Amino acid sequence: MAPVIRSVTVFCGSSDSVDRKYFAAAEELGAKLARRGWRLIYGGGGVGLMGSLARAVLAHGGEVTGIIPKALLELGVGDTGLTELVVTDGLRDRKAIMDERGDAFVALPGGLGTLEEVLEALTLKQLGYHRKPIAVLDLHGFFDPLWAQFQRGIDEGFIKPEFLDLWYPAPDIDALLRYLDGYEPHGYGLKWTRRTRTSSGPAAD
Ligand code: AMP
Repeated sequence: MAPVIRSVTVFCGSSDSVDRKYFAAAEELGAKLARRGWRLIYGGGGVGLMGSLARAVLAHGGEVTGIIPKALLELGVGDTGLTELVVTDGLRDRKAIMDERGDAFVALPGGLGTLEEVLEALTLKQLGYHRKPIAVLDLHGFFDPLWAQFQRGIDEGFIKPEFLDLWYPAPDIDALLRYLDGYEPHGYGLKWTRRTRTSSGPAAD
């Protein structure tokens, strides 16, 4: 049976200078999380998609936990009026709490911070540190260049093809939520296989 989801950790862009369609997706996700009673766990920012997402959850009667490092809060980019605000000493303990508190991970389009956060969630899953679902909103193919990079890693033997199953690239919010609903956790083989390299190029397992 699929595990019960009560909270979702969302990574997403903090920039205000992006197309309206990205804000609309953040608002749609916020409204739908609230409707399901899934608490939003996020970086605590009031800017960019982060702020729109959090405000949408609250506006629809949902609950939001923001987890923000002291330094960002002091810069004035934190959100006010959240259900709960956890202030951490630094970025690393912030991420650990965000990882711990969410039953699932979701990434919306974003910049370097978003990429770093979703790649860490994927890396930890690859190594067996967690078995939570990871869904990425691939709105209008925003993440296509990243998938192309992953494919390059597979083609050249750096990434095992089975790891393509670590996450779900969702074309829209409803598909993303359906994936989380039906997700069945399972383990993966070891990242490393002992190989005997007899020629140049990727060796067979
Ligand atoms: P970026 O994609 O570079 O805009 O960074 C967004 C991600 O980094 C978010 O998922 C947050 O966890 C974190 N982040 C960036 N800016 C802020 C901010 N002002 N307040 C809190 N977290 C932030």
